[in-house]
Amino acid sequence: MKITFLGTGTSHGVPMIACDCPTCRSTDAHDKRLRPSIYVQPTEDTGILVDAGPDLRQQALTHDIRRVDAILFTHGHADHILGLDETRRFTGPSGGAMPCYGDETTLNDIKGMFRYVFDPATPKGGGLPQLELIPVAGNITVNGYAVTPLSLLHGERPILGYRFGSFAYLTDCNAIPDVTWPLLHNLDVVVLDALRDRAHPTHFSLSEAIEAARRIAAKRTFFTHMCHDLPHADTNARLPETMQLAYDGLVLDI
Ligand SMILES: [Zn+2]
Ligand SMILES: [Zn+2]
Ligand SMILES: [Zn+2]
Repeated sequence: MKITFLGTGTSHGVPMIACDCPTCRSTDAHDKRLRPSIYVQPTEDTGILVDAGPDLRQQALTHDIRRVDAILFTHGHADHILGLDETRRFTGPSGGAMPCYGDETTLNDIKGMFRYVFDPATPKGGGLPQLELIPVAGNITVNGYAVTPLSLLHGERPILGYRFGSFAYLTDCNAIPDVTWPLLHNLDVVVLDALRDRAHPTHFSLSEAIEAARRIAAKRTFFTHMCHDLPHADTNARLPETMQLAYDGLVLDI
């Protein structure tokens, strides 16, 4: 299985518009963070996107993504769904709709944000994405490959993480409910939200993420959804040995 990190930044991205801080002005390519998303290839002929943020076009061009068999949404915040219109390029050659999985709240967020896509009165011919919204109920199967949804808390809002074999992706969370812990055993790699050092009401701080990572005890931990408070090199230098910040373009073979 191959995993490509398409974006590892918080909703603003890094650099942030109109910011002159050292991270935003850094010349280290690892400090350039697009909005959060990963591309998972469980086999050579299956490609799964987790989230479709506002940088999707750029991410797909950079990484030459040509195939998306399904999109798994974690939740409906703008930094995770605003690239949905770009999926027109991935609609199947036979015109089949793109399977989009999410919880009910997320699918409603998508319908609200992309009203023109779902409104029968929208004139045809302008190139609408064809989307099949599928509520998550138990395991998801994409081309025969099973993905396990994971309940997470993003502040008071329940959202989803996803487990692919021995890899789990838990972005945008500040708590892991009891029901999810047993689903996090025996992981080679876990990815966890770690926004910044200071506490935040809906995201793990770095120290909270480290604590969760210790309890999950995967062989390796990568953090994502970082804001400009966490420069790549300096932050990695103070992390425990098996933990690192992810970065845009990081590829894992698991
Ligand atoms: Zn987010
Ligand atoms: Zn900054
Ligand atoms: Zn969010």
